[in-house]
Amino acid sequence: MTSEASMVSAPSTDPVTAALDEVHARHVGARGGEIPTYIPTLSLVDPDQFGLALASMNGNLYRSGDAEAPFSIQSVSKPFVFALALSELGLDEVLHNVGAEPSGEAFNAISLEEGTGRPDNPMVNAGAIVTSSLVPGDPAEKFDRIRRCLSAFAGRALEMDEEAFASELETGDRNRALAYLMRGAGSLRSSAEAAVEVYFRQCSLVVTACDLAVMAATLAAGGTNPRTGERVVEPRVAEHVLTVMATCGMYDYAGEWLLRVGLPAKSGVSGCLAAASPAQFGIGAFSPRLDVRGNSVRGGAALQDLSERFELHFVHDTGLSAPVVFRSEDLSATDPFTPVTPGSREPVVHLRRLQGEIEFAAAETALDDLTIETGIREVGTWLLLDLSHVTRVNGVSAQLLDARLAGLRASGVTVFVTDALARHLLRSADAEFTSAEEAWAAVAGGQA
Ligand code: GLU
Repeated sequence: MTSEASMVSAPSTDPVTAALDEVHARHVGARGGEIPTYIPTLSLVDPDQFGLALASMNGNLYRSGDAEAPFSIQSVSKPFVFALALSELGLDEVLHNVGAEPSGEAFNAISLEEGTGRPDNPMVNAGAIVTSSLVPGDPAEKFDRIRRCLSAFAGRALEMDEEAFASELETGDRNRALAYLMRGAGSLRSSAEAAVEVYFRQCSLVVTACDLAVMAATLAAGGTNPRTGERVVEPRVAEHVLTVMATCGMYDYAGEWLLRVGLPAKSGVSGCLAAASPAQFGIGAFSPRLDVRGNSVRGGAALQDLSERFELHFVHDTGLSAPVVFRSEDLSATDPFTPVTPGSREPVVHLRRLQGEIEFAAAETALDDLTIETGIREVGTWLLLDLSHVTRVNGVSAQLLDARLAGLRASGVTVFVTDALARHLLRSADAEFTSAEEAWAAVAGGQA
């Protein structure tokens, strides 16, 4: 699709595409910024191209404008190669060779950490050269692993732009200088020439805004590609990568970017940008004109706009989406449809039904409803904790709920838990049932 076509695209009937189209339309007129010339092939592109793409956690892909236009990935390769190095070597080993501090300097700055000679972080050129050199194998194997890993992130086989590679190989003396400096300082283990060559190759992999959206969505989904279902990296690795993107991903604009946009992102000199909203979606943007820091003018503006409209800033208080305890009743154990009268001493079933995702805040709220103080009678009563409407319980929440259930059992309450999910996560129950009805039958059996 050409940029001309994107400017006259028909209004979309799909609401998410329509929202992207709206953002696209608001920024397509911006003409500020310059095309970089230091890598000759980059100056040959159509500067008016502008594409946006969004990949959701369900694996849906939404596009607007030139979302299928190809370009070399450049620096947006860095977080994904960092992910590969983390997967192969672990965090400590990688951090031994490259730091995790925002540099506050330009992407190609010639500066290394005092004392250790380490580059500041994996998102600046020096750090990226070290990171890709850490990938196991000889140079050909390293690049092969890198290409396969980035392809898995994108969900399709990525190819190299040989011209972009040749162009950078010819003109990339500043990166070569960085590599030699690091070799001299002891922070680069492989030969300087071999290291920059692998790095130039990774920078010349060809992607589209759609690819970047899927790659970012894979990080947002904890390392599993939402379109192919492939686990590309472990969730912990995805978290680490997103963290370094948040603090160091936008060149020497990283701090203000986090302040204004609040999304982990990485930009590249070809005018591309990948941003992730954890557990929500990934976005890819492409528009070649860059601001003075090297970030795509339209891409950055579109992302800021989207972040504001969709309330995506990572510190934004989303609150609890639904009450976690949606049923809390004390029922007669002999007649499950009759609430017990307060103060009565007849056998009671305390029914507590939780719903949705139980993370720390939700679990802590639920605990309030699971105490002696809030009405759970001791000795000779049943607690029926119904989790059949719970979609997920994270580790800390399971521990908190377990501890409370153990306390109630110690006070003489018989604890029944329903749902298979609970069986794996909650251990402090007297019995588990597949449904509340089954649990009621057991109570009735106990009464008989
Ligand atoms: N290959 C480019 C370089 O090393 C990547 C820079 C970038 O995208 O920030 O100069």
